[in-house]
Amino acid sequence: MSELTVDVSDLLSHPGDRRPISLEGEITGGTDLIRIVSPVTVNALAESTGSGVIVKGIVSASIALVCVRCLVDWDEQLAPTLSALFESVDDPDIFPIAEGLIDLEPPARDELLAAVPVNAIHAPDCKGLCGSCGADLNKGECGCDEIELSSPFAGLKELMDLTESTASHPEVPKD
Ligand SMILES: [Zn+2]
Ligand SMILES: [Zn+2]
Repeated sequence: MSELTVDVSDLLSHPGDRRPISLEGEITGGTDLIRIVSPVTVNALAESTGSGVIVKGIVSASIALVCVRCLVDWDEQLAPTLSALFESVDDPDIFPIAEGLIDLEPPARDELLAAVPVNAIHAPDCKGLCGSCGADLNKGECGCDEIELSSPFAGLKELMDLTESTASHPEVPKD
């Protein structure tokens, strides 16, 4: 049981009853690529279904992200919605209730990790790193302008220019 454990035994015997839940705690986990860098906050409403408890609300935490273009890292506050059903049954799709206690860490972690952008970019106009010298182009030009970095065919075009230096080629279209 984690720091996000709540006693809901009062709700279980009263179907339809509701109670707000407000919790903050450290949670373990994340992945090699995704780090949860702040305590996790859950603000939700727990409602008794008779056979269990459904918890709906918001989970929030800061996640360490790395820009896929320029590799700068920063912390971003994420606040996905949470909706989790807890019952004392042996079903992998339902979170368990054990002796009146529910642990909000597994669904909170699931929602946070699912909310992380797949290709995080630190700013919409991030220029990325120079493919030749590795300079961060957001900090200024590096002097490698003549190489067509934006085209996947840049290397191929260079080769063709070298082998057929007398022929003229149409420009490789850029997107
Ligand atoms: Zn960037
Ligand atoms: Zn460069």
